[in-house]
Amino acid sequence: MTDPHQLLVRNPATEETVALVPAAGPQDVDAAVARAARVQPAWAALAPADRARLLRRFADTVDAHLEELARLEVREAGHTVGNARWEAGNARDLLLYAAGGAERLLGKQIPVPGGWNVTFQEPLGVIGVIAPWNFPMPIAAWGSFPALAAGNAVVLKPAETTPLTALRLAELGLEAGLPEHLFQVLPGYGDTAGRALVDHPDIAKIVFTGSTRTGREVMERCARLVKPVTLELGGKSPSIVFADADLKAALDPLSFLDNAGQDCCARTRILVQDTVLDEARDVLSDALAAVVVGDPADEKTQMGPLISAPQLERVRSYVPADAPALRGSAPDGPGYWFPPTVLTGERPDSAAAREEIFGPVAVLLPFTDEQDAIRLANDTPYGLSGSVWTRDVGRALRVSQGVRAGNLSVNSHSSVRYWTPFGGFKQSGLGRELGPDALTAFTETKNVFISTEGPAQ
Ligand code: NAD
Repeated sequence: MTDPHQLLVRNPATEETVALVPAAGPQDVDAAVARAARVQPAWAALAPADRARLLRRFADTVDAHLEELARLEVREAGHTVGNARWEAGNARDLLLYAAGGAERLLGKQIPVPGGWNVTFQEPLGVIGVIAPWNFPMPIAAWGSFPALAAGNAVVLKPAETTPLTALRLAELGLEAGLPEHLFQVLPGYGDTAGRALVDHPDIAKIVFTGSTRTGREVMERCARLVKPVTLELGGKSPSIVFADADLKAALDPLSFLDNAGQDCCARTRILVQDTVLDEARDVLSDALAAVVVGDPADEKTQMGPLISAPQLERVRSYVPADAPALRGSAPDGPGYWFPPTVLTGERPDSAAAREEIFGPVAVLLPFTDEQDAIRLANDTPYGLSGSVWTRDVGRALRVSQGVRAGNLSVNSHSSVRYWTPFGGFKQSGLGRELGPDALTAFTETKNVFISTEGPAQ
């Protein structure tokens, strides 16, 4: 039974209780938003260089606690320690990048007759950020830090299963000298604290990262108040592997089972040109057998557990015991473990081939030629990410143009850099985070015309 007043944080590798955290309710949201609204104008009025200096100090404080934050992520989310260090480092780096953005948040001067015309990028006010459990630190950072840099206050609601690193980040912000109440973290459930944040009239914008189903509801609720919203939602991304590709690199199973496959950019549809399908099967089979699955705190581990028992059940439901598949191994005993799996007998329209499973499960599908690959890649409601593997530059460019997704990589499985834009096409989302325009998404554009004619004498 879920206690509405308390969040139970479990270690997904052992099922042991890590912490009990009080759950915020709607009154707590009201109080936090009121506090944030009180301190935001003074923050916005600070000289950009002073805001930047405080954010850089925040980055230094995160850096000094990097290992502590990483170890906390290992315990609350089951992430491998190598990944968790990258995640804490990503939060630090984004603070530094956003700090520079505060100093470069430029308006425009537009030539007009009879005067000067100037645009300003003004902060929105108090931003509500709602984060999921799969990358608790980076996603909290992506929504919050550019918003702070642009002169806004932030109220962040982490996922109910993973509130600890977000709470620690807020403490480190205070330690670094951020004004009190500027960056508040309110752990709570989605249907109470989350909804209260979305519905609050003094929240100027919502940044939501999570499932497409919840994102749709958030957008509907925001529409009632004509509230802007950024949505970072689900994915079912393709890896398109042509016969001339470096098959070993293209079929690296970490492309879909990094973070135990709980990655919105996971390349879970492995599309392989039919002439090399048998070879691809052999490469994948060897690679799956070699993946090190186990204790996420061990430096050598490549894949840890799933986040929770319900998530394990969900993943299992897509993989019947007799399904044709290539399988790796996973530990027995306590913890939410599922072995790396590639389903080999799926049709392109099956549930496993179309729905986001959010576990270490991919489907292998053949294609015939370039046009067939593009058609298959686009045959999903999602459009977040994807990879194109070929040595033919022209083909790589044509396929990159043909695939409808926000983040593609050629001969690489990478998706995220804090200095390049990130976000999805179609039902993978709305708006972009990160990159050079990240701060602008947290501003209103104001245009002022100044007459040079002077007042009538
Ligand atoms: P979820 O939608 O269940 O929950 C996400 C967050 O929303 C949580 O904090 C939750 O408490 C809150 N929430 C739930 N119901 C709410 C409501 N009615 N109103 C307001 N808030 C509510 O998603 P999840 O299971 O935590 O996360 C997994 C999903 O996130 C996957 O679909 C994944 O693809 C997606 N995701 C997307 C990106 C991206 O950038 N596109 C990144 C990571 C994860």
